[in-house]
Amino acid sequence: MKHEIVEILKNSQLHITENRLKILELFQKNAHALSHADIEKLTGKLFDRITIYRTLQTFVEKGIVHIIPTSDNSIMYALCKEECSEGHHHDDHVHFICLQCGATLCLEDVAVPEIKIRKGFSINEIEVVVKGICLDCQQ
Ligand SMILES: [Zn+2]
Ligand SMILES: [Zn+2]
Ligand SMILES: [Zn+2]
Repeated sequence: MKHEIVEILKNSQLHITENRLKILELFQKNAHALSHADIEKLTGKLFDRITIYRTLQTFVEKGIVHIIPTSDNSIMYALCKEECSEGHHHDDHVHFICLQCGATLCLEDVAVPEIKIRKGFSINEIEVVVKGICLDCQQ
């Protein structure tokens, strides 16, 4: 897994730094999206807030992670699939928030539905967040 993380950083022309390695590893290990606060907690005060913030910004710019909007304004970050590159995100899938455990997931196999917009309007991006109960919480 470490090798894979190094490859991702190299492909994005990023220097290999401890914070980038560590934070990217967290995204690889977790099936669900992470917030700034989650990362702070999981890295156990290893990095300060600014370092985490900057690392996340860099990852978003480089097409490594994408942002998921949530209703309570806490930004969630999730790992991108391979098609994303610097300045070009193609994360046109539905996101799911579990009302029971709070997990935020990328449903890569569920495409965002097509929307017929009003005449004269153009669409740049469609964000779909579905709320419900995840598989783990159904049992
Ligand atoms: Zn992306
Ligand atoms: Zn759940
Ligand atoms: Zn996603």
